[in-house]
Amino acid sequence: MISFLDLQAVNGRWAEDIRKSLARVADSGWYLRGEETKSFEQAYASYIGTSHAISCANGLDALNLILQAYRMTGRLKEGDEVIFPANTFIASVLAITSNRLKAVPADVDEDTLELDESCLEKALTARTRAVMLVHLYGKSAFTKDIADFCHRHHLLLIEDNAQAHGCLARTQEGWRRTGSLGDAAGHSFYPGKNLGAMGDAGAVTTDDEELAALVRQLANYGFSEKYVCPFQGRNSRLDELQAAVLQVRLAHLDEDNAHRRRVAEVYRRQIVNPKVRIPVRTTDDDRDDVYHIFPVFCAERDRLKAYLREKGVETLIHYPIPPHLQQCYAGQLAPAGSLPVTERLASTELSLPMSPVLSLEDAAAVADLVNRF
Ligand SMILES: *Cc1c(COP(=O)(O)O)cnc(C)c1O
Repeated sequence: MISFLDLQAVNGRWAEDIRKSLARVADSGWYLRGEETKSFEQAYASYIGTSHAISCANGLDALNLILQAYRMTGRLKEGDEVIFPANTFIASVLAITSNRLKAVPADVDEDTLELDESCLEKALTARTRAVMLVHLYGKSAFTKDIADFCHRHHLLLIEDNAQAHGCLARTQEGWRRTGSLGDAAGHSFYPGKNLGAMGDAGAVTTDDEELAALVRQLANYGFSEKYVCPFQGRNSRLDELQAAVLQVRLAHLDEDNAHRRRVAEVYRRQIVNPKVRIPVRTTDDDRDDVYHIFPVFCAERDRLKAYLREKGVETLIHYPIPPHLQQCYAGQLAPAGSLPVTERLASTELSLPMSPVLSLEDAAAVADLVNRF
């Protein structure tokens, strides 16, 4: 059996360090807003390359807190439009709509699976105020054209970096990490992400001092100081146990991502089935890929999935129903059929096993099976 992602093995590699960290917190008697959280935030900000990292309870909250803060400062107003890539995970959209902003899906480019300037151009209206850029599958979605587009139209550039910790993109100032490319970024440390905790966890990164302070305040009830509440916040805190685990995992993130790239190379080199399309390589141009997911596309996706399962290979689908076709957004985002690329991707996508502990032999065996389909 080749599993999609063996988290026991992923975290088992650092079992000793993780146990020590957990014990340190347990023995300390201090479980929230303490030294572990502070050192993780410092380490993560310095890793991403922003002046601030504010930890919070999960990735959805990270995006929510960013948008709530912009709503409070008046930078975003009720009904303002936020463009997002139509093929993203539902959380990107939930954050927009729950802040009473209008979520506007833009269809993506079929080859890169991401937004380009022409996609944005089509979704732009007089009420557009922000772009939510999602580095989906671990691949940087940032381009100079997108940055210029946002600049030209005075739009906020908000990154959803839940799937791309450690990924790089070329900017005017050289290579920078995703999460440091726009005005603010939300990160998720859900256990299965490239940088994963042992439970829920998330963070906001930004260079904007005012935004950082507001996000920090909002995540702790809105308190300006203890029991003083100038505005309505929420409870979205990272706990010390997760912060301790994340420090262990962060120290190994680059080597984990390097292994994911090696697995991806095996898939790229060895999969030659004309029925199966593999994503174009973007890593030779101005952006990097940390392969959170290795998606392939096949018209007979369900049959391919069943075939691989029968041969002992576990696969997943990211994602079977795009946000605009979800029942929760019925009649709200875009009608069925209006985002043809996204809809086609959703009905043909299959995610092959991918993790920092998948052996290259197993990856080769998966590729071989895909070829025999
Ligand atoms: C995982 C994920 C989120 C949400 O993160 P949680 O920590 O699960 O709340 C948001 N956006 C994308 C693209 C994700 O993959």
